[in-house]
Amino acid sequence: MTDEFVESGPTDEVGDEWEAIDVRDTEADRIARQKDREFSEFRKRLKNTEQFKVEGSVFDDATYAALYKLVQDDYLQAFGGPISTGKEANVYEALDDEGETVAVKVYLTTTSNFQQMSDYLEGDPRFEGIRGSTTKVVIAWVRKEYSNLKRAQAAGVAVPNPLAVQRNVLVMEYLGDEEGPAPTLVDVTIENPETAYSVVRKYMRRLYDAGLIHGDLSEFNLVFHDGQITVIDVGQAVTVHHPNAEEFLERDCRNIASFFADLDVDVTTESLRSYLETEASPPSRD
Ligand code: ATP
Ligand code: MN
Repeated sequence: MTDEFVESGPTDEVGDEWEAIDVRDTEADRIARQKDREFSEFRKRLKNTEQFKVEGSVFDDATYAALYKLVQDDYLQAFGGPISTGKEANVYEALDDEGETVAVKVYLTTTSNFQQMSDYLEGDPRFEGIRGSTTKVVIAWVRKEYSNLKRAQAAGVAVPNPLAVQRNVLVMEYLGDEEGPAPTLVDVTIENPETAYSVVRKYMRRLYDAGLIHGDLSEFNLVFHDGQITVIDVGQAVTVHHPNAEEFLERDCRNIASFFADLDVDVTTESLRSYLETEASPPSRD
């Protein structure tokens, strides 16, 4: 199945880099096992900072090791406060090597949503064979989010630029300014809903053309940054070949149509779907 997908079209040019990586034993796991003096000091220091004391109390050593590795590899130099804390992941502000703000999404390997995550990965040809422990599934999930971001970006969809991935940690471009993270569409007054809708619709079509369905698209996962709409949270996005692709597409269309219909845009779930399906041509299976 993987081979078929690899041959199936232009969308395969990006997004499959993770396959070379062994999910069984990441560099972070090795660091956590060895616990040399430098890592132990790093972990202690981080554990004692306010934000990690509160939010990160459930982080395991391998998560600290992943953050440590990202510092070693010059992706990060300092950690800031949490932007968002959730059941599956926390998003933090951090500084990159050059002192620019970046966003760091740290997935909890103790997630209670393990079963649901497995279901999303299950039908995805890029993730065949990834089963087993929660940790493995989470690691695969983060790789998937990274590769989905790359794929979306290559397709011309505005998403946060993915910078690095290490075990259960994803580093990406920070959306926001000195005053804080960019608001989602829920928290802004949309001055021109027609235009906003046409942008979202265009992004949905580009994603679909690239063989991806977001799967959790709504006003909560669209942020308004730097004068433009940006799509976030693509970890669960599936390829159009996924057994539940149809259901996810329908739900995305329903969420988006109802949000914009409430703002008096002339849109229905059906009209959005037919726009995507008649105009777009996702890669076929053969
Ligand atoms: P949820 O379960 O709330 O959907 P999640 O754990 O799936 O959250 P995201 O939706 O990716 O994670 O991010 C959670 C919140 O963090 C977003 O609503 C947004 O406010 C913020 N956020 C995510 N990515 C970034 C980013 N790159 N820059 C700035 N803020 C971000
Ligand atoms: Mn979200």
